[in-house]
Amino acid sequence: MVIRYYTAPDVKRLVDKMVADLHFTHINPDCVYCFRSEGSKSRRTVARIHSLEKLWQKALKTAPRYLIEVIGERYDKLSQANQEKVLIHELLHIPKGFSGGFKPHKGYIDEKTINRLHHLYTRQRTSAERSSTAGIQSLTRGLSLRLKHASKSENLKKH
Ligand SMILES: [Zn+2]
Repeated sequence: MVIRYYTAPDVKRLVDKMVADLHFTHINPDCVYCFRSEGSKSRRTVARIHSLEKLWQKALKTAPRYLIEVIGERYDKLSQANQEKVLIHELLHIPKGFSGGFKPHKGYIDEKTINRLHHLYTRQRTSAERSSTAGIQSLTRGLSLRLKHASKSENLKKH
C-alpha cells in the first residue's frame, strides 16, 4: 500500500499550543510542520520527527526545520491525553539549539519526564483560565534543568 501524506492542521494547532504553554522557547513554531500519514506498515510507531539536515540547510540556504509526522491509523485512535503525550515526546527530540539535530531518548526522553510535562501542560490549561502563568513558568524552568539529569534506567518507548 502506498503511504499517503496530508497536512495536519489539528496536530499543528496542538503543537503550537504546547510549545507556547510549556515555554519551549528554543522551538520556533514557524519552522515546525505537521503531517499525518496513512498506509504506513510500521506496527509500533505512533509518530516520528524528521528534520532538514545541516547540509540541506546549507544547500538550500534555509533555516533548520522540523516535521512531526503522526501515523493516522495509530495516533487517531489515542485519547486526547495520549496524543498530547506523543507530541511532547516528539518535541523533546528537538535540541536547545534548534540546529536540525536530535536529542536521543537516553537521558532526555522517558515516560516520567513526559508525564511530568503533560501534568504541567494540563495545569497550565486550567491556570490559564485564572490568568496566572507566573507559577508555571518557574516550574517549567526547574523542570528543564532536571531534564538533563533524567534517570537513564527508565523504560524507553521508542517512536
Ligand atoms: Zn522518540
